[in-house]
Amino acid sequence: MTNASPLRRQYLDIKRLHPDAILLFRLGDFYEMFNDDARTASEVLQIVLTSRELGKGVRIPMCGVPFHAAENYIPRLLDAGHKVAVCDQIGTPGSGLVDRQVTRVITPGTVIDDSMLMPDRNNYLAAIVEIDGGCGLAFADVTTGELAALDFTGASVVERVQRELTRIGPTEVLLGEGSQIRPPDGVHVSTADRPIPASDDAHEAVKRVVGPSVTAAGLGDRAICAAATLLNYLETNHAEALHVFTTIHAAAIGDQLELDEFTRRNLEVDRSSFDGGKDGSLLGLMDRSKTPMGARLIRRRLQSPLVDRAAIERRLDSIAWLAGDARLRSTVREGLGKVGDLERTVARIRRGNARPDELLRLARSLSRIEAIARAVDGALDGAEAPMGVLDPCAEISDLLQRALDPDGETIIRLGYDRDLDEARAASGAAKDWIADLQARLRTQTGIKALKVGYNRVFGYYIEVGKSSASSVPDDFEPRQTLTNSLRYVTPQLKEYESKVLTANERADEREARLFAELVQKLAGNSERLSATAATAARLDAAAAFSELAADRSYVRPEFTTDGELDIRDGRHPVVEATQPERFVPNDARMAAGDPHIMILTGPNMAGKSTFLRQVALIALMAQAGSYVPAASARLPIIDRIFTRVGARDDLASGRSTFLVEMTELSSILSRATPDSLIVLDEIGRGTSTYDGVSIAKSVVEFLHNHPRIRAKTIFATHYHELTTLAERLPRVANYNVSVAEQGGKVIFLHKIVPGASDRSYGIHVARLAGLPDAVTRRAEEILSQLEAENGRQLPSQMSLLPPDRHPVLEQIEALDLEDISPLEALNKLYEWRSELDKT
Ligand code: ADP
Repeated sequence: MTNASPLRRQYLDIKRLHPDAILLFRLGDFYEMFNDDARTASEVLQIVLTSRELGKGVRIPMCGVPFHAAENYIPRLLDAGHKVAVCDQIGTPGSGLVDRQVTRVITPGTVIDDSMLMPDRNNYLAAIVEIDGGCGLAFADVTTGELAALDFTGASVVERVQRELTRIGPTEVLLGEGSQIRPPDGVHVSTADRPIPASDDAHEAVKRVVGPSVTAAGLGDRAICAAATLLNYLETNHAEALHVFTTIHAAAIGDQLELDEFTRRNLEVDRSSFDGGKDGSLLGLMDRSKTPMGARLIRRRLQSPLVDRAAIERRLDSIAWLAGDARLRSTVREGLGKVGDLERTVARIRRGNARPDELLRLARSLSRIEAIARAVDGALDGAEAPMGVLDPCAEISDLLQRALDPDGETIIRLGYDRDLDEARAASGAAKDWIADLQARLRTQTGIKALKVGYNRVFGYYIEVGKSSASSVPDDFEPRQTLTNSLRYVTPQLKEYESKVLTANERADEREARLFAELVQKLAGNSERLSATAATAARLDAAAAFSELAADRSYVRPEFTTDGELDIRDGRHPVVEATQPERFVPNDARMAAGDPHIMILTGPNMAGKSTFLRQVALIALMAQAGSYVPAASARLPIIDRIFTRVGARDDLASGRSTFLVEMTELSSILSRATPDSLIVLDEIGRGTSTYDGVSIAKSVVEFLHNHPRIRAKTIFATHYHELTTLAERLPRVANYNVSVAEQGGKVIFLHKIVPGASDRSYGIHVARLAGLPDAVTRRAEEILSQLEAENGRQLPSQMSLLPPDRHPVLEQIEALDLEDISPLEALNKLYEWRSELDKT
């Protein structure tokens, strides 16, 4: 180490503080990385690994990126799962070693640079603390200032926390050592670097940031600890970020329609299953926002539909209001299209790093908002605004108009500040004097080609051709000799030059001060700007939903109190919008007292899955506060939606998909309530026919007989045997997707009709799928042989069961379903399965 240069020692000292991060070390115009950091980064970023001598005989592996391009490289390091510490030069470079300091540690949840953020989604950092069997969860978006926390106690805490994490969708989660929580795939996991503060200290720590709102939020101890842990982490990594938080609120889970991760994925709420992108998902269809904060709000609404009737009706009211006035809607949307990301601008104002061009945009946004507010007021004609009053923040807007140079040539405009104007005038006068000097000197000296010029090294100079050297006056001081010319200065020129320089410096300093003061004034008024941003977001979401409703003829859902569900001519919102063929609308009716279990049979590709999802999506959209794709919709408020799709045999993955299917099913059976909606698609498919039918049947019986559950259930299946259940169970009804046959071909009508379907049409579908004619013809032969051998009623899958009732069925019937835990049920299934395998 003795050979190491001072620079190397400085590097090592800083690196020691950030052993787990890739350290970007500013050296002149580059951020350099050394040693292992360099090796890792050169690989991740695909940049050349070189080396540099830092001290005698010490060559260190190194790679670097231009400092101005760091924004392009940092996200790639984050994506590869690394933490990045940015070390900048503090103070001005002089002769000695420049001071350097880590100014930010960047992790996926603490990113603030626009280039690393998606405008249409929040970037949440979550923190979880586990104390005495309970959990505190806090989450924050440093780019918008949102901070919330909640407490979990009681049964299945881990499962509930995980479900909440999928709802929030953080990019980074802070966990304590040895945590039991498994965050969703792709989420960056960090460990909290300071121990969880004790609850009094935690309360103080949160209060220091958000003031008295911490008491008002009524948070539990664990929630407070989680919030304190999160804020601690931010403080260590990026202290400025703390300024964006002005309040904390309690996130309440019971206020939301519960959707588990599988259901979100299956319903393609925010991602299509095709490529995981937003296109093709419900969000992709519904996000017709015009502003980034509106886009984020729509995403949050679809992630967290409500259960509070009054709150849902309020959202629907604002859609109704805009849906009825196409002119107003288009004025609002056009105006909002020119409003920038107010929320993130406010956060930057609070952090103190708002840029001048950004404030100019803010000024323009506010004048747009003013125009929108005027249009809205006119349309309301004194009535109350359904999404709250849109405050154009006139005083702030005035201040910005007065202060900022609209052309962006300077920052502060003329007339705002006398000192600044004076300094600029002084600089201007001195420049004018210099500008006139050339003409004066030409006359005075008689040198026609005399020029006054400027360069960065020498400043202002007077230049004459070599041939005119003899005509140069005595007070010209020579400075530089070029091939054909000579350069001079005069004491007076130097005097004016220094006038320009000092005046410029004074003006620059003054301007920077004024700008900082302006940002500070705005920060002082940021609550008001925040409120405007939030109202604009609600207005944007309402306008987007009503535009969609008008465009695609959606209707306002009505909510029933007696459990009645009656959708007339419902459509699948995404399939309807994306497929070129006409979408066939279908009813779904499960009125109070009527059957609440629909068994839906029909050939593959008839439209069963589409129908199931369409019912679930209509419920979800309604509770998110949107109109729905139907001719009319009367819906109960649903507390939980469960969807499960029977696994296909998946040998490649090596794990028992059937086991997964059954575990998921057991969680539904233990969690469903009479207010839940259960949508099951081909459950039981993942195992042999016997097992599959047995399980499918027993699940339906369970849902039918259980006094507590009685959830609305739609069960799509190709097991025709299930249709016999309706004969025995009064609250089960059969439906099928009708098909027509024409000239030996199947035509899918996609129409759901009452009753059971009687044929599987498997061979027709196989033909449609392009199976060679020889194969399908042979299949037809085999089918008719089977039919001849077994009697005509036997083409269905159940026909393969032995004529006597299987002992397993007896056992299933003998079970007391009230009394059995999901785990016991699973064990039973295994028992039966091995019994069946023997037979
Ligand atoms: P299943 O679950 O019965 O196998 P799907 O629900 O997957 O069938 O539907 C198959 C295809 O049929 C869908 O991809 C869609 O293109 C079309 N489809 C389904 N329902 C309808 C409908 N109601 N109207 C028009 N086309 C439909």
